[in-house]
Amino acid sequence: MSESTYKISKTSFLKFEQCHKAFFLYKNFNHLKDPLSKEKLLTFKRGHDVGYAAQKLFPGGIDVSLETKNLQNAAILTKELIEKKQCVIYEATFIFNHVLVMVDILELTTEGWIAYEVKSSLKVSDTYVKDACLQYYVVKNCLDNLCDFYLVNLNGDYVFHDELNYKTLFKRRSIKKDAEKNITYFQHQIDKIVLCLDQNTIPNVPIGKHCFTPYGCDFLGTCWKNTNQENSIFKLGKTDKEQLFNWYSRGIDVVEKIPEDEEMKSFLKIQVESMKHGKEYVNASAVKTFIDSIGKTFCFLDMEIWSAALPKYEGCKPFEQVPFLFSVCFETKDGVEYINYFKPIESDGREEFLKKLIASAKNFETIIVYDKNLEVQILNQLENLFPQYTKEIKLLLSRMRDISDIVQHFHYYHPKFKGNFSLKAVSEIVNGTSEYEQQQISSGLIAMNAYESLLTESNPIINETTKQELIDYCNLDTNTGLKFFNFLKEKIS
Ligand code: SF4
Repeated sequence: MSESTYKISKTSFLKFEQCHKAFFLYKNFNHLKDPLSKEKLLTFKRGHDVGYAAQKLFPGGIDVSLETKNLQNAAILTKELIEKKQCVIYEATFIFNHVLVMVDILELTTEGWIAYEVKSSLKVSDTYVKDACLQYYVVKNCLDNLCDFYLVNLNGDYVFHDELNYKTLFKRRSIKKDAEKNITYFQHQIDKIVLCLDQNTIPNVPIGKHCFTPYGCDFLGTCWKNTNQENSIFKLGKTDKEQLFNWYSRGIDVVEKIPEDEEMKSFLKIQVESMKHGKEYVNASAVKTFIDSIGKTFCFLDMEIWSAALPKYEGCKPFEQVPFLFSVCFETKDGVEYINYFKPIESDGREEFLKKLIASAKNFETIIVYDKNLEVQILNQLENLFPQYTKEIKLLLSRMRDISDIVQHFHYYHPKFKGNFSLKAVSEIVNGTSEYEQQQISSGLIAMNAYESLLTESNPIINETTKQELIDYCNLDTNTGLKFFNFLKEKIS
């Protein structure tokens, strides 16, 4: 039995699961949705790219979404294609019991129909399984001979050789058993959703941990607007959400309302006092210890990486982190200087990257980074790939100091951090305003995508501009690190 009208999409069903209010706002006040961040858009794009690659496993299909943008017509067209026994259908659309779902790939086999839902991740989360089970519930009720339903995701063990092998790049897992077990659950939930829509009043749901689990809600700007005060407790960093909501439920929404005798860990006390008095906190002896550990000659290092879902280079796995750009920044008597290396995207070139890095850093006694995790990870990976440079890499690592420790371990805290300990937050303090906002490229994910765009962009002027923007972004990171170092030095002088 299939229908032609629907009230619930897969997205809205998942919203209901997370928060009834989020569902209601999504259905009735969608204009209140927060604007999509560039990062979120890029995540969607990655999903589409991987979905498109998975279609290559089942070539020659008809993509229903390309035939019509009207979802009801898409369901009608899917029905027609099924009746005609079209072997492969992409974005097959079904409506049952008020719910509309689109299945990435539907394949006709000798046993019957098999559906595939593609995810652009290495792991299959519980939410993905639930999402696929809902699709199974709808498709099964529209298609008698649906014999299985698979979740398809990227295979973390896949290694690229010569060209992409789609058969081994993806792996699949049947969710049929899970789905069959939960049929009544979905029927029950859908009844509740229809009731929620019919009631036509915004469900009264207070903010809570559910606003971030399993996904950051799209309506944070609406529901959380009252927590935007300068001294809101939600601007306390590294704090257990349980603790924050416990305070919030007691009417403590700003730090001034936290009772004086409230027991709290020292890092929390530092933040609370700093916010209450609008003053920075400096642990002068810890900062001095850090500054004293820096050699006479020192530089700042930052790397950008490309983590492609679909690997491009020999021996690479999905999402393997490939470094493509570094900035080494240092002071001379004439001012600040930079050494950059930009790895062309067309070929692997990691050995050249490593050689340039070793050469650029060799004259400095100390190499300062902001959050060394990425740099250490990349250097260890390069050591595995090119063991002939082990000695140089070990030397480089032994000279590395992480200036973010000062912030992460609360040796320095500024109320403007607002619980954010990134280089961007530091930039607010040392650059006055956030220079990152003025850059075309303002985050690692955007940088990664800009680099990837060089693969397909044929206009050399656009390519040169992108390359320069990436270098500027990387240099801004090292320059901010340098300014922060000088800022700290002044604090303790
Ligand atoms: S922000 Fe929180 S309370 Fe508001 S709709 Fe989203 S999940 Fe529900």
